[in-house]
Amino acid sequence: MDGSPVKRFIPLLLLCLVFVQAPAVSASVDIGRIGQPPTTLSDVYLRDGTAYISIDEVLGALGLRGTWDPVRHRYSFRTPAGTASIAPGSPYLRLGERFIPLDVPPRFIDGDLRVSEDFVTVRLPALLGSPIYFRNHQPREAPPADADSSLDRLFAFLLHKSKPATGGPALRAVALDPGHGGEDVGAISPRGDMEKTISLDVARRLERLLKMRLGTSVYMSRSGDYTVSAQQRLRIAANPDVDALVLLHAQGAFSPETRGVTLIVRPQEESEAGALVRGEGGSMRLARHLADSLQEKGIAVAGVMRAPLPHLGRGDLPTVLVELGYLTNPDDLARLTTPSGQEALAEALFAGLRSFAEQERKEARP
Ligand SMILES: [Zn+2]
Repeated sequence: MDGSPVKRFIPLLLLCLVFVQAPAVSASVDIGRIGQPPTTLSDVYLRDGTAYISIDEVLGALGLRGTWDPVRHRYSFRTPAGTASIAPGSPYLRLGERFIPLDVPPRFIDGDLRVSEDFVTVRLPALLGSPIYFRNHQPREAPPADADSSLDRLFAFLLHKSKPATGGPALRAVALDPGHGGEDVGAISPRGDMEKTISLDVARRLERLLKMRLGTSVYMSRSGDYTVSAQQRLRIAANPDVDALVLLHAQGAFSPETRGVTLIVRPQEESEAGALVRGEGGSMRLARHLADSLQEKGIAVAGVMRAPLPHLGRGDLPTVLVELGYLTNPDDLARLTTPSGQEALAEALFAGLRSFAEQERKEARP
């Protein structure tokens, strides 16, 4: 056979390999324990918009290791909370006798069991009881540019309200962001109560009310005491069914007299076309519904205000940051730290979200 057709074929073959392989490995990430130099992992695979990383490599970067059981088809590793095991395709992580749901099941890709980026940034720190340093060199939402403007674009992307579905529940899904977490404790009361604990407690109660009474899906930016990045916090709002984002905080003041709930919305809102929304905007309407229902339940509202806080982002998704009260005021502190007080706050926020959704739906009707 003449060698020339083969020679002509080889560059074509190489070209094909380049095209086939290039999209498979898409990014690299840095992972490590806080305070120790991180390890760069470069075999990060993108599938359906999710970054998958080898569980062996992730644990290795944290000084841990797991074992694959080829008979039971499970991967197990030890954590301070007990032995955890995961299986390819399974939407559950097993921890002792408990089954913890996973948003994204692990997958076998290219010969390795791989877990999602969210598993590494959300589940793993909760299991290990300590924050993990994590950096994706090529975050899926935004191209890297200078830090401020890329974060800004990320927010703009995340916080654009999707079209509400007609017919379904009034509130399809709510994103809840309990402030702070992990080493970031937030404000502290004179007797040592921490904002990070209060924000999570109230968020959990509100989550339960929304799920139980309205069947609303709830996306939480954290479900335990660990550090969450600004991107991870707002990522929950990227779910297409999210109708509102509520950020929960508590604050402190110099004077013990200062008290009440403060509701904060971003200064202006943009439509999807980038034009400023005329009138109040969904965030301000949501804030007013929340303020009304808090007051109806006898909880003082210090004010509803607009402030250019970076974590409120841009866009037109109804977004309200709720400062639940002052840790420096005895009455507020009692409400913020007792089960009955936290439940009263959650009930009021729930009622405000529900009346907001009902009102929006009425007005959306022709
Ligand atoms: Zn805070």
